[in-house]
Amino acid sequence: MDKDCETVTAVFGFNVFNDSAMRERLPKDVYKWIRKTINNHQPFDPALANVIANAMKDWAIEKGATHFCHWFQPMTGLTAEKHDSFISPTPDGRTMMEFSGKELCQGEPDASSFPSGGLRATFEARGYTAWDCTSPVFIKEDGKNITLYIPSVFCSYTGLALDKKTPLLRSMDALDKQATRVLSALGNKTSQHVTAMLGPEQEYFLVDRSFYEKRLDLILTGRTLFGAAPPRGQEMDDHYFGTLHERVASFMHEVNIELWKLGVSAKTQHNEVAPAQYELAPVFTTVNVATDHNQLTMETLQKVANRHGFICLLHEKPFAGINGSGKHNNWSMVTDDGINLLDPGETPHDNMVFLVMLCAVVCAVDKYAKLLRASVANTGNEHRLGANEAPPAIVSIFLGEQLTDIFDQLANGDATSSRQGGELKLGVSTLPPLPKDCTDRNRTSPFAFTGNKFEFRMVGSTQSTADPTFVLNTIVADVLAEIADELEKAKDVKSSVQKILRKIATEHSRIIFNGDNYTEEWVAEAEKRQLPNIRSTVGSLATIMDEENVNVFERQKVLSRDELRARTDILLEAYSMQINIEAMTMLNIAKRQILPAAIKYSGCLADAVNSVKSTGIDAVTQKSMLEQVSELTSSADKALKGLEEVVEKCAKIEDASNKAEFCRDKVIPAMCELRQFADELEMNIDADLWPLPTYAEMLFLK
Ligand code: ADP
Ligand code: MG
Repeated sequence: MDKDCETVTAVFGFNVFNDSAMRERLPKDVYKWIRKTINNHQPFDPALANVIANAMKDWAIEKGATHFCHWFQPMTGLTAEKHDSFISPTPDGRTMMEFSGKELCQGEPDASSFPSGGLRATFEARGYTAWDCTSPVFIKEDGKNITLYIPSVFCSYTGLALDKKTPLLRSMDALDKQATRVLSALGNKTSQHVTAMLGPEQEYFLVDRSFYEKRLDLILTGRTLFGAAPPRGQEMDDHYFGTLHERVASFMHEVNIELWKLGVSAKTQHNEVAPAQYELAPVFTTVNVATDHNQLTMETLQKVANRHGFICLLHEKPFAGINGSGKHNNWSMVTDDGINLLDPGETPHDNMVFLVMLCAVVCAVDKYAKLLRASVANTGNEHRLGANEAPPAIVSIFLGEQLTDIFDQLANGDATSSRQGGELKLGVSTLPPLPKDCTDRNRTSPFAFTGNKFEFRMVGSTQSTADPTFVLNTIVADVLAEIADELEKAKDVKSSVQKILRKIATEHSRIIFNGDNYTEEWVAEAEKRQLPNIRSTVGSLATIMDEENVNVFERQKVLSRDELRARTDILLEAYSMQINIEAMTMLNIAKRQILPAAIKYSGCLADAVNSVKSTGIDAVTQKSMLEQVSELTSSADKALKGLEEVVEKCAKIEDASNKAEFCRDKVIPAMCELRQFADELEMNIDADLWPLPTYAEMLFLK
């Protein structure tokens, strides 16, 4: 590493054109302007672009950069970039290094190969990227290639959003506007803006690269499509927070350094519940920057894993029967003068701002539970939500004892008291009493209040944090807009607040659940409460175009009907495509690896039967093993043919919804059938002949 980079403080933000770099390198008035744009959301003045671009270019070239790129997040869920060099040849055969304001502000990639959900016909290839100056520009080093990255949004020629960032930015504006209206109506005269904040905890698995290379399923789909349960899983509860393995710790160290250089505040790291599973959490920041940083985090985890002979699996469910990976989106709203609107303080019952904000979130989540559920619906997450693993597909909110008590008080009239936490005495004379929180934690809730923020835990580990976050911002903004309408016309604000809170506490109490979300009893109870429980991705995506959802996005100017429909189509298509890839990969592995191994082994057993018999001894064991393997082999072969048949049928279905439903109802069951026999074969075949690394090897060997 560079000499300058020796200490963490020097490393942090080393490759970011951050506030201090801007202050140092931009003329004072230009710096002031750009700060105004970032802080006060004033439109960016394009006249300043040349000056800024020039300063950025000098800074980037000093760091060895030769190229720049607009970095954007199309609907693939990944990031996209097209590099251009700074070179500008001169007539005398030499070159200058140039970077104009126009190049900084706008790019024009050929958009025709990105999913657009019909928003743009292929022949209308033009799309635009535009610099999002609220997320800092940075430099990335990929081997010897050093490039200036410009975080950007991506839209069609007609200005329709083709990416994840545009609706996120629009939703931030909506939330800012409506929350500020409410604050002002409540008598806050100092806060000018409200920003949504996000701290996403990222879960992932590490497996040794040598195993990965032998598994086509991991290579092509990111998850194991075959694999018998290992004799040991996660039942010992000994991995969670366990001592870091040295090889893993070295990997984490390097990840941190790389992230710190990019200004990503990687903070927490630990072993997760499942063997070979880990977590990384940054310090929270604005939802916009946090979303960019989460993309960089996923990318860096994969890149650095490679250097250490690992593969980082980000899939929601790489291993059947073992906990999957999610992303916990910690979300809050903070004013420009530093007030966390979800901070209850010591006595929440008389904290009016907090109660209004809390109730707004509760109301929004209850009203738009299906939309929140849909914001995390993808192929991978289907294995977690509503399957035999937490959290369930039912959206509910954990408030904890203290706030639930206040919520009940609100429903019955006015809130007049807050339960206090007290002290924790440990019975050890040398330890002082510890202050105890007024509420225990709940690990099973999909949407939990955790002290001064909400934690949305249904998000999938591969997902962009943009989707669930712009949905949350939008629905909360919409409820706040209604509250602001009431308050702005109220003669007596206090009694109006009381009325609003009572109404919310009465009408939306059904969404509050503090118990164990993993139990059957909760599923039954939720049904009684008429809370939606949409287990399948297809079923969930089908709710997106419900009129109330279209309306909320249009009212808050986050997505138009067409934009929303396009997104839904893209998600449906992605689902079917992914299932199809998984099915084809299974067929490939079954035909070319598993069945041949089974046939080889039955051949060995048949030889054994014959040669043992020829000595005059009865080959009882050999014969019964042969029978079993033969039976399993023909069952697997039958299942394979069954899968082949449905895959062929599926290919003929044109309509996106019908296709996705067919995948759910026919292809996935056929895949499960094949897997079941193949996994049984694995348990009954000579280990030396089995072609795939086993679960035990992948999960426990480091
Ligand atoms: P847990 O104990 O739930 O695993 P941590 O305490 O490690 O979680 O924090 C989880 C994440 O929540 C971190 O990214 C942290 O920065 C973030 N966080 C903390 N406070 C807030 C807040 N007010 N708004 C948004 N995120 C926050
Ligand atoms: Mg957490």
